Order: sequence, then C-alpha cells, then structure tokens
Amino acid sequence: MQEFEEEEKLEIVQKFPGWKEILKPTTEMKKGFYSYAATLRDQEYLNLPFPREWSPLDEDWKLPPNWKEIIIEKMDELRKKYRSFQVFMDICVRCGACADKCHYYIGTGDPKNMPVVRGELLRSIYRRYFTKTGKIFGEWAGARELTEDVIKEWYLYYYQCSECRRCSVFCPYGIDTAEITMLARELLNSIGISQRFSLISAAACVRTGNHLGLSPGGVVNSIRYAVDDIKEITGVDVEVPVNKKGAEILFVTPSGDYFAQPHWFTFIGYIMVFHELGLDYTFSTYAAEGGNFGFFHSFEVAKKINQKIYKEAKRLGVKWILGGECGHMWRVKHQYMSTYADETYEDALKVLEEPVNPVTGTVFENASSTKMVHILEFLADVLKHKKLKIDKSRNDHLIVTHHDSCNIARGMGLYEEPRFVIKSVCNHYYDMPDHSIREKSYCCGSGAGLLADELMELRMRGGMPRAMAIKYVHEKYGVNHLTAACAIDRAAFPTLLKYWRLPVQMGGITELVANAMVMEGEIERDTDLRGNPLGEYLEVEI
Ligand code: SF4
Ligand code: SF4
Repeated sequence: MQEFEEEEKLEIVQKFPGWKEILKPTTEMKKGFYSYAATLRDQEYLNLPFPREWSPLDEDWKLPPNWKEIIIEKMDELRKKYRSFQVFMDICVRCGACADKCHYYIGTGDPKNMPVVRGELLRSIYRRYFTKTGKIFGEWAGARELTEDVIKEWYLYYYQCSECRRCSVFCPYGIDTAEITMLARELLNSIGISQRFSLISAAACVRTGNHLGLSPGGVVNSIRYAVDDIKEITGVDVEVPVNKKGAEILFVTPSGDYFAQPHWFTFIGYIMVFHELGLDYTFSTYAAEGGNFGFFHSFEVAKKINQKIYKEAKRLGVKWILGGECGHMWRVKHQYMSTYADETYEDALKVLEEPVNPVTGTVFENASSTKMVHILEFLADVLKHKKLKIDKSRNDHLIVTHHDSCNIARGMGLYEEPRFVIKSVCNHYYDMPDHSIREKSYCCGSGAGLLADELMELRMRGGMPRAMAIKYVHEKYGVNHLTAACAIDRAAFPTLLKYWRLPVQMGGITELVANAMVMEGEIERDTDLRGNPLGEYLEVEI
C-alpha cells in the first residue's frame, strides 16, 4: 500500500452551522468546485435567452436589467405548471433525514451540499415571494431576499448536484432534490446562466445527432474498426447494418461507445451478440446517441434532443428501439417522456410496435408505451432462454462487482437484470455492501453535467463513498473488475479508481457477455476482448 505525506491526505471537515448562517449566500468560486460558463457560440446556437460572454469569476455576471422579475415570474410559472415543485417547496420539515445521504456532502463536508440545504437555497426564495409567512416574517420564517449573490450561490451549488436522487430514497416525504436542482437550473437558464460542459454536448447533439459531434463518416468508420477488431479477436466476419430501412430494430447507444475506452469493448460486444443472434437491426448515423445532455440544462433543450431517436425510428420504418448501456437515455425515457413528448414522438408511436424479442418471442410489455427496450432487459431474456452458447470460465480471470448507475437503477428500477446477466456469464461475482447498492447506490460523482475537468476535486471527493465500497470488495474478495451500464460511469470511473489507488478495471456488462460467448466458427480464444490472457487472475495496475 502506498504511503502518503500528511499534506497529500484529503481533509474533510464536516461543518454544522445554524440556519441563519447557512442562508448567507456563499459566492466564493473555489477551483475544482465551480463550472465554467457556457460559450457564447453554444448559447447562440441553441437560441438561449440573453446570450453573452461571462465568467463565474467576474464580479459582474452581466445579468439582464430585469433579471429579478424574470426569475420570480419563471418561478411562478414553474410552480403552477409542476405540482411536484410546489409540493417540494412546501412540505420539507427540515427533519435532516437526507442530510448525510449526499455523496458531495460526505466528500466535501460543505453543509450547502446537504440535500436539505440544497433545497433550502431555492425554498428560502420561494418562501419570501410566494408565502405569507415568508413575506411578513422574512428571515424568521426561513425566507431571504433574491440578490445577485443568491444567483451566484445557485450556480455554484446546483451544479454540485448530480441529480442522482439518492437523498430522495431517505426522505420520509419523498422530496426529490434532483428535481429541485433541475428547476433551479431552469431558472438560471431564464436569465442566461448556463454551464459549459452540458451545453457543449447538447449543442453538438442538435448539430450532428450525437454529443461528441461525430460526423456520419466518423460513425461508419468506428463501426468498420469494430468489425476489424472482432475479426482479429474471434476470426468471425460480421456485417453491421447502418441506416437500413425496414430493419426490425433500431439500435441506439451513447456516442462515447463508438470510440472511448473502456466503452469500446462494450461496443464490439453489442455487435458480436447481435451477429450471433442473427438480429435484424440497424445502427443510425443520425440517431447515433442515446443520452440527452439537454436534460441537465433545461426542458426546452432536452425536448429538442429527445425527438431524434423517434424521428429516425419512423424514417427507417423499424418496429421498435433497442437502447445500449446508457444512463440518462433511460431516466428520460422512463420518467420524463410525457413532459418531453411532442408530435414527433406521437407520430412515431403510431407506427412503432410493442417490442417483441424475435429470438425468444418475449413481449416487453413494460416498454409498450415507449417502444424502447434496455439492452440489459434484452440480454437477460436471451440468456434466460439460453439462446447464446456461453463459456463462463472465459471470465474466470475477473472477480466482478457491479455499480448500480443512478439513472437505470434508481431512475428505472433495473436492479436484478444486470446481476442476472453478469452471473450468467461470470463465475465470480460479489456485491458491494447493501447501503451502497440498488436503490441506495452511491453516485460516481460525475453525473448530470459534472464530468467536466474543472470540477475534478468535487468529482473525486463526491466519488469517495462509491470508491470506498469498491475498496471493501477488492480487499475482501479480490474484486478486480467493476461493471456499470452507463457511458458516464465508464468515463468517470477510470479516473476515480486511479485517484483512490484501487487496482480495479471497469467496463460495460455486454463486454462480459461477449467475452464468454462462443461464436459459430470462431478461432481458439486465449485472450479476452481487451487482450488479457484468459485463466489467470488479472492483476490490474494502478
Ligand atoms: S440528488 Fe444526489 S447529488 Fe443531488 S442532493 Fe440528492 S444525493 Fe446529492
Ligand atoms: S428528508 Fe425530506 S423532509 Fe427531511 S429535511 Fe430532507 S428533504 Fe426535508
């Protein structure tokens, strides 16, 4: 175990000031904890209100002259439009059950990262302008004036929330602080305050169909490289349909899967599995993205991005949509489709059919409204019906644990499917401690637009509870492989594992299925998809 000098050790001081102190706005933009402002180019491209160049470090944020009225009016509009918002503002009793449940509070000790306080940052303004007690008694009733400092504080702390919803699991009233964060970001957008990282991705998605800005040629090239890799590893020639009209299934996955590491092995895994099953499917160069970064900014931008998958499904004339290992694609589809729906979605639903697995005949009744099935639901069904030839010993060099990604676990309830799939293809699987998995899963610390480099210290601190649970299973069982069915996780964990000095590699679940899958006509395999030798325990370098 590496020894560290005293000054290298992370200091976490938990602070508990009184409410009066807590409601004084914090505006210090500490390096590693604040997000950069959106570029003028992206603000203009997405047609956002009051586009301008500004920086959180500036004294003057160049707010529009009537910014205060805009915020109050928007808040009034939102509380009337969303009953949940009004309820979340009214019913918190400050019981504190959520206080220590946020990974950012645990990792930073900053009281403003307690979910109860995060909610109060907005609630105090709601009380001041929309409740009688707040108007009359002000501070005594937990109300405060809306000032420019409050706006700065909102920007700082509502972009220190990964909208993971862990706190809501512990709230006796079911208050969803993630939704409070979403509405706060919506309010900030109304006066032209947006975060750079989310908007870079959202603008690229509107422009090209994917967050990374891959051109159609780039998408096709990635698929060609995947075909070459599969040939080299297995000796099998596979064909990959792209933009194929009349295919039965449209397959959509996060754009990170097309080339990032370790996403790539899950990407080639999808193609290998579909080939082996003889699936009639197609990729699309337009809908080459499952995620929705607009979701981390505003309803307008989220809605704009959300339509493309359905538009493309209709254009290609497919029957239903299969989605890859993505997190926020599923949160949006399962929790917010009625909010984001427009005529494009309604039109597509008229021609799409209730998904039926062509390999097993299983009807995915759970997807009858969205016509969209998660790859883990699909794989669990295929493996349950033993439609793939599996040699589990091919994963014996790995001792596996699973991270329940907030969006597909808490967001859509996929707790058992990933475990069933992993255990169907691996002999060695261990769960992390109960308080850190399934609905109580700790976030990776980089979701909801927080994967930005400038937030690195926040991310590493916020990821600490999850990292400590991985450390526990590594030390107890020798776990050397972490799975997560989310592209943000696949991007976030390698840095987090390295930072916390954990000799554990990570990847998607389909990679493990493809490792263990015996393909028709394959050559003798002595490595996994990453080139690691089969059989002997994999020692992961930190
Ligand atoms: S939603 Fe997640 S990140 Fe946000 S306050 Fe709750 S626990 Fe913290
Ligand atoms: S647990 Fe719920 S009611 Fe209690 S302080 Fe937190 S948000 Fe408020």
